[in-house]
Amino acid sequence: MLELIEQQLTSLTDAGLRRRRRVAATPCAAEVDVDGRAMLAFCSNDYLGLAAHPQIRQALQDGVNLYGAGSGASHLISGHTRAHAQLEDRLAEMLAPCIDDVRALYLSTGYMANLAVLSGLAASDPGKTEIFSEQLNHASLIDGARLARCPVKVFPHADLAALEIALQQSQARTKIVVTDSVFSMDGVIAPLTDMLALCERYQAWLVVDDAHGFGVLGEHGAGVLEHLHLRSKKLIYMGTLGKAAGVAGAFIAAHASVIEWLIQKARAYIYTTAAPPALAHALLTSLNIITGTEGVQRRAHLAQLIGQFKHGIGDAPVGLRLLASDTQIQPLVVGENQRAMQFAAQLFDAGLWVPAIRPPTVPAGTARLRVTLSAAHSSAQVAVLLQQIHNLKVVA
Ligand SMILES: *Cc1c(COP(=O)(O)O)cnc(C)c1O
Repeated sequence: MLELIEQQLTSLTDAGLRRRRRVAATPCAAEVDVDGRAMLAFCSNDYLGLAAHPQIRQALQDGVNLYGAGSGASHLISGHTRAHAQLEDRLAEMLAPCIDDVRALYLSTGYMANLAVLSGLAASDPGKTEIFSEQLNHASLIDGARLARCPVKVFPHADLAALEIALQQSQARTKIVVTDSVFSMDGVIAPLTDMLALCERYQAWLVVDDAHGFGVLGEHGAGVLEHLHLRSKKLIYMGTLGKAAGVAGAFIAAHASVIEWLIQKARAYIYTTAAPPALAHALLTSLNIITGTEGVQRRAHLAQLIGQFKHGIGDAPVGLRLLASDTQIQPLVVGENQRAMQFAAQLFDAGLWVPAIRPPTVPAGTARLRVTLSAAHSSAQVAVLLQQIHNLKVVA
């Protein structure tokens, strides 16, 4: 059996699909020490540069002094602290303009939040639920849909006509449409305004995974719903707090009764130890920064860098295809796995850390360099990146 695993590992290597972890020895920032080398990083999801922010670090330390290291139990036993409760109230306040009678629920990770929301919702109407899942959805949504143990219909990327036909044909009483807001490997925003209108028409829930929008989009950083001025009680929102918010965890915001149901029934929420309260305490400071003037400034700076990158890349250099992204996720599609690895290696040699993303994270034949920009970057650093991308060489 060990031999079988080792053979499979060798075939991963041969297909250019073997992944390896690099070891960072410094905080998440624009300049990092990785595998012992000083590098300029364009790979994190720390879009606002908050992961190493002095005030948030301090708040985390304060949180440890107030609450200790661990929560000691799950939320429903004894692990639910005042810090968790305050965080949930604050998150609900942020989403209040977008969801009627909103309440928020904090979970340890976005992966678990997606398992909780899809399996939990489906459990409210067993045998009569159907999930409609966008083709490019994140793996955690795919796994959540599997765990929901109900029929799952995948609709083609951004194809609302196909979604409408599927909703029309469905016999299910509870219909759940689920999509990424900002597609994590494309940077493109889903057509949520029209999708919500469809969901209202066909009495479906719309679950929006805003892992890459929360903190970044919207005037106050409340995410894609604020950005698009959406409001509905059919909306179920998932935001993560380890990306732009710079700490860890995730939350679901929805109508208070939906949240109460998830607290009662979502196994991914119930059967796990509550995240350390100090994280929730630190997140209160992070949310203050996101919603305050500093957040506004950081989003404005990030928008400038995105403009600089898109302008500077121009018609993408030979061998690279730019996607129509206006967000901080700016992928350069290469196609073939080995070539994406070569390009990433060339950039790494030049001191730039840009990951090569390969299947199954992206569809076969669309391996890419995933450039992510952050408010932690300077315009000079983006200029270095652009220059090195233009220097990439196709080698046989
Ligand atoms: C990162 C991500 C998640 C998972 O969030 P974690 O908090 O990292 O577990 C879920 N959905 C999308 C689209 C993501 O990019």
